[in-house]
Amino acid sequence: MKLILLIILLSVTAFLATGQVEIKPSPLPGFEQRIRAYTDSLPVVDTHEHLMDPKKIRRSTLLDFMLLFHHFADDDLISAGMPPNTFQALLGDSLSVKEKWLLFKPYWEKTFNTSFNRVSMLAARKLFGISELNGYTVELLSKRIREAYQADWFNTVLKEKCNISFLIQDFDDNSFGNEGFRHVKRLDHFINIASGEDIATLTGASGKKPTTFDELLNLLRADFQQAVSEGVVAIKIGVAYTRPLNFENPGRDKAKKLFLETLSTPPGQPLSFQEVKPLQDFMLHRIIGLAREFNLPVQIHTGLQAGNGNKAENANPTLLTNLFQSYPQVKFVLFHGGYPFGGEIATLAKNFPNVYIDLCWVYAISPSYSQRYLHEWLETVPACKIMGFGGDYHNVENVYAELLMARQIISTVLTEKISTGYFNEAEAKLIARMLLYENALNFYNLVSENPKPDGS
Ligand SMILES: [Zn+2]
Repeated sequence: MKLILLIILLSVTAFLATGQVEIKPSPLPGFEQRIRAYTDSLPVVDTHEHLMDPKKIRRSTLLDFMLLFHHFADDDLISAGMPPNTFQALLGDSLSVKEKWLLFKPYWEKTFNTSFNRVSMLAARKLFGISELNGYTVELLSKRIREAYQADWFNTVLKEKCNISFLIQDFDDNSFGNEGFRHVKRLDHFINIASGEDIATLTGASGKKPTTFDELLNLLRADFQQAVSEGVVAIKIGVAYTRPLNFENPGRDKAKKLFLETLSTPPGQPLSFQEVKPLQDFMLHRIIGLAREFNLPVQIHTGLQAGNGNKAENANPTLLTNLFQSYPQVKFVLFHGGYPFGGEIATLAKNFPNVYIDLCWVYAISPSYSQRYLHEWLETVPACKIMGFGGDYHNVENVYAELLMARQIISTVLTEKISTGYFNEAEAKLIARMLLYENALNFYNLVSENPKPDGS
């Protein structure tokens, strides 16, 4: 009797602990498997990658186990004390695979826990059958990677294994893309100006450096129009790596005066950020104005910056609020689930009709953050404003591994939402498809050149 009471008490406590009131009736048995199978079967719009050309990878010194560990894993190796030049040696061809392993091993033993490294291990296991790293398996893994790249591995992974219909590259080089590839345009170099030398790098197609403020603005417009004519699907703003995301609107006269001061800085003596900030802010406003004119959405890096030693406070998405207010016609998507500003990004996307959330890269940063906040965002933000996947990787293997995590996390969250009666099964399936496919398709105005038989 006591045992029965205890079981009843525990189940009531467990139910209350979810904080949910049952809105939908209890699901039919087997819903967990059905949601998982459905989520796994969905085609994907991958909103953000930096994929390297597979032909270049094939010829590069990266074609060993370090291919899986060269991107993002390096942030944690260096965070755990690996000297940056040791990491560089791991990417070159002066060391054998065994010698690379001997350098890598002590730092691997300190960092194997992080999600960046778990993504790489998942890729090693699922794609190459290697589940432990040691002196023997790194040779085998390297051999299997080299063999894979002899065939059309790139498309095998993206198409057959990932089921990616569209992939948005944050990269100007279109030469190796397939028909599902789309591109974004970066114009950060027009914002990150602090010296005459910076301005001299802005030459554009004509090869002519701007010498007046009007020439600078004309050059920006010409570059923007060129990108539009090349079919870019968005503008990408990545300046949270170099400065804070608060942009005042100083007005043209002040910006013009500062441009002339910046143009005449002596070599090697840039203006300080505080001095040049109004010019940079003006340029950002000009870019957003062009996005409004040409009806292009704007992707913004928010939250954790890749690499080491960055300023987290620069990338707080709430710094952008005045932009969202000033440009209601421009659609902004905030990247990386704003990690670690998950509550802030939810508040912004809930408040502003023109603000969206993208979970690109955040599964690789932290699966549990992704899961926790996806739960919360599905309670706070209209489902049509959440984009569920972008890998943010250089190599397709890690995209595949991160997508496995994404599909699992999305189906876990939806399953939990069904079991607490928040959604029914049909609603959960609708949301899975919105997150992985439809929302990004609509946001970026993507048109399928080869529609699938089911019309997707
Ligand atoms: Zn990126």
